[in-house]
Amino acid sequence: MIFDIQRFSTHDGAGIRTVVFFKGCPLRCAWCENPESQEAGPELLFDPKHCIDCASCLRPEAGGFMHRNAEGRIAPARRAQRALGAAGSAGGGRPAEPAAGLTAEPATGLPALAELCPSLAIRIAGREASAEEIIAEVMKDEAFFRKSGGGVTFSGGEPLAQGALLRELLGAFAERGVDCAVESCLAVGRGALESVLPFKPTWLVDLKHTDEHAFREGTGGDLTLVMANLKLLAETGANMVFRVPVIPGFNDDDASMRGIMEFAADLPRPSGGKPRMDLLPYHDLAAGKYAALGRPYPYPRGLAVSTPRLRRQAEAGRALGLDITIGG
Ligand code: SF4
Repeated sequence: MIFDIQRFSTHDGAGIRTVVFFKGCPLRCAWCENPESQEAGPELLFDPKHCIDCASCLRPEAGGFMHRNAEGRIAPARRAQRALGAAGSAGGGRPAEPAAGLTAEPATGLPALAELCPSLAIRIAGREASAEEIIAEVMKDEAFFRKSGGGVTFSGGEPLAQGALLRELLGAFAERGVDCAVESCLAVGRGALESVLPFKPTWLVDLKHTDEHAFREGTGGDLTLVMANLKLLAETGANMVFRVPVIPGFNDDDASMRGIMEFAADLPRPSGGKPRMDLLPYHDLAAGKYAALGRPYPYPRGLAVSTPRLRRQAEAGRALGLDITIGG
């Protein structure tokens, strides 16, 4: 279950990269900029600004996912949203049984619904894709990878949550000589991580906080799991880049940033070199996606990271021996 394949990315690893976005994430970060990545199943996004009221999505073959609301406007049907939510929480990325009255197969019915809409007001995030299909799509950019020192990056969502697919893809691209990177929050069991280590990808790893309580408040996840996995990666000499989202009111204060940087600097480094860390300032550009998903934006709007403070914190991190970049 993936929700996008994005080409020509220059921010998700070395060189020009094609990014495969896996759908489904164990965390629920309040500032998440890809909210459509969180649920494991397909989700409907609707932007009324693009709707031309052609009523194509009300036709019987559209499955009853859209309706006219009390004001007579086109909108997702509540019943459909509930059914999509149920599909999304099913295990293993597979949609659950559809609710009565909806299309027989949400996994195939939903993309068809988007195709009925001529104005792109309806978008479906999430589709099943075979490893062969993903490999063929990514290999179209092989020449750019060779020229730029790039490759493929698996992001999400959480790629390790779909371990079998990830392992198949890592093996296939290794055979083809394509560089691989995995972007992960590492909030997964140790076994899931260990099963991927032999492929030796570059790891773009989240490190959001070092205080257990704050981490749980902000992400809903278990920090001990993340820290244990970071240590495991470091001990095996994995090539790692720390990606730290700098979030006002969560971790942008000096004590939180210092905790994050000290943790990264103190990890074992069997092969030497400076640990690399990208500081990624918060923005609320994803607010439109939350609206399209019918969800309230979960974090205060309009907050900004203080650039002078971030520069000062970056200098403090460099003094600890980290190779720090603001942005990524
Ligand atoms: S098919 Fe698209 S443009 Fe037409 S009414 Fe439905 S949402 Fe609006």
